[in-house]
Amino acid sequence: MGIEEKLPAGFLLSTVEQVAGYMRKGSVWPATFGLACCAIEMMAVGTPDYDIARFGMERFSATPRQADLMIVAGRVSQKMAPVVRQVYDQMPEPKWVISMGVCASSGGMFNNYAIVQGVDHIIPVDIFLPGCPPRPQMLLNAILELHKQIQGMKFGVNRVAAARAAEAAALEA
Ligand code: SF4
Repeated sequence: MGIEEKLPAGFLLSTVEQVAGYMRKGSVWPATFGLACCAIEMMAVGTPDYDIARFGMERFSATPRQADLMIVAGRVSQKMAPVVRQVYDQMPEPKWVISMGVCASSGGMFNNYAIVQGVDHIIPVDIFLPGCPPRPQMLLNAILELHKQIQGMKFGVNRVAAARAAEAAALEA
């Protein structure tokens, strides 16, 4: 007989990691900034039609130091790249990144010297969201996918260090 069958009804077993993941995913605060037209769709998720407040995210943070999600909404110009990196570095761990739209994810139709050909060249990305622009529902779906990642996070894993090690390995290959 498994331990679950010996326990009284309504008794819940979990781990500290799972409880922390549950709490974290319910209080992700995005940084307030947009880079181009995708940002209009990002702003729409705050309206009553899409109601991002359902996920504990109605508070877009005006300072990166109180944000743990960066939604890169729009193309990233070469001039903007160091700023995006600085904002990312100012966000406390644990933190996550959604690359919203084809421009942020790969440069999109801006295949030229002025645009970074994928924001993952400057910061680690957790979710790539396709579309031009992705609709607000698609962004909400990306957020729900991110919630699954957050729920499964392990303690003691430095994601930035792991991402840098992966970057270094990719450069060496
Ligand atoms: Fe604008 Fe489309 Fe690029 Fe988004 S993906 S920034 S909507 S051109």
